[in-house]
Amino acid sequence: MRIGLGYDVHRLVEGRPLILGGVRIPFEKGLLGHSDADVLAHAISDALLGAAGLGDIGEHFPDSDFQYKNTDSIILLKQCFNLLQAKGYGLVNIDTTIMAQAPKLSPYKSEIRQNLAKTLESPVGRISVKATTTEGLGFVGLGEGIAAMCVALID
Ligand code: MG
Repeated sequence: MRIGLGYDVHRLVEGRPLILGGVRIPFEKGLLGHSDADVLAHAISDALLGAAGLGDIGEHFPDSDFQYKNTDSIILLKQCFNLLQAKGYGLVNIDTTIMAQAPKLSPYKSEIRQNLAKTLESPVGRISVKATTTEGLGFVGLGEGIAAMCVALID
């Protein structure tokens, strides 16, 4: 068994959609990035790659590469999962935390879980999605960005 850790941050700006775990969340701002800036999908991708000793998503999908402009990060996550499977690994579980002051994410956690379970070909019980604020502290608390963390266990 092997464990991996992923962490990502993206800036919140006007004029962008907010996409978390492949689910579009209604909000007046969205995350800025070269891809669709799905901070949760990126953290999960890094946790999976890390667990398998396969580097990080920046190595596999460089933001200098135009083909990844506005890319659906769920597709990148799927590709990371495929790499892991190609090395003979399977997913045991992931546990994630999204850190956002707003919007309130509890209405969307279940849909995000389902979407990730489908992407990772796993029962939903192996996919955990949690959300927290930072009590108004730091860049998350000020609404300047959203962060996400993930740990992944593979065997
Ligand atoms: Mg990212």
